[in-house]
Amino acid sequence: MDSLMTPTLEISRGRFLQNLAAVQERIGPARLMLAMKDDAYGHGVEWAVAAAIDAARPVEMFGGYDVHTSLRIRERAEQATVFAWASSTDEEVELALHARIELGVGDADYLSRVIDVSRRLGRTARVHLKIDTGLHRNGIRPEDWSRVVADAMTAQRAGAIEVVGVWSHLAEASDAEDDESARAFREAVDVVRAMGGAPASLHLTASAASWWRPELRGTVCRIGAFCYGIRSADGPEIPGVAPIAALRARVIEDRGDDVVIGVGSFHGLPSILAGASIGTPGGMREIVRIDQTRTLVRGWSGARVGDMTTVFGPGDQDEPDATTLAERIGTVGEEIITRLTGTVRRVIED
Ligand SMILES: *Cc1c(COP(=O)(O)O)cnc(C)c1O
Repeated sequence: MDSLMTPTLEISRGRFLQNLAAVQERIGPARLMLAMKDDAYGHGVEWAVAAAIDAARPVEMFGGYDVHTSLRIRERAEQATVFAWASSTDEEVELALHARIELGVGDADYLSRVIDVSRRLGRTARVHLKIDTGLHRNGIRPEDWSRVVADAMTAQRAGAIEVVGVWSHLAEASDAEDDESARAFREAVDVVRAMGGAPASLHLTASAASWWRPELRGTVCRIGAFCYGIRSADGPEIPGVAPIAALRARVIEDRGDDVVIGVGSFHGLPSILAGASIGTPGGMREIVRIDQTRTLVRGWSGARVGDMTTVFGPGDQDEPDATTLAERIGTVGEEIITRLTGTVRRVIED
């Protein structure tokens, strides 16, 4: 009874593979770096890495954000490039170097710590230097760039590091700002080359800009959302890309006018989603109220305990996707999925 009544996030491996193929097709010849922060956006790292490296066109680069997630990726992807861009402790850097994880470096202090650790271990750290192109969220400032790159090149000549990439992150607030960021990015790459560097991985864009602004792509695109089928809030559908996860919950009580389903705010469903419609065997029905572990839904005739409902995601009716729910409450689809707690069972289907 217990597991029958547990809400589940049903995830389609096949749909995920189709999304990967669509994204790779769109961004080629740039390579996909699959972003996997927050446990692969709430879908689960392990199965997703296994699926991605087994794809018809295998994913060869993964972005783990932190070292811990990157180590989980490395366990499943022995050969892949794994990139961790969060500034990390010396202990984490050491683990990363042992596991051949490449490091994103966005400030001079972190660079010197990485150099120290790699010297101590006698292992060359593969480093992607981050230029701040306007987002002001970590990244080496343009006025400091030449000096930091010079330090990096000195360490590279000594064998402590290899600068294998240059990267940045776009604000995606306006095309004009992003154009300006791309210009600053190209200048930063030129500086590295002029000082003798040969970074092969140049990456600036995430889902939306990689898809819609081909002129801004470098040699690599860091993409999470679209691979998991999460479109941008207030953004268009993406051709060939569809949500991979559906949140399903069973009827646990029939009260006639209303029906109670077994999912609530303690599972991570925001209570302010009351008023949204979900898929039920009786058709689309409105959420009346979301409590801690249960949700009250407008009833339908013939409702029975155990009936399955779809709160979001692929269903056989007009179910909202996670982004549609997010738009109701002024957030993004990623947040709807990553908020779901560990009490929501993840079920991976073919
Ligand atoms: C999360 C993240 C991405 C991926 O963004 P999406 O919009 O999900 O594709 C890329 N780069 C960085 C630095 C990120 O933190």
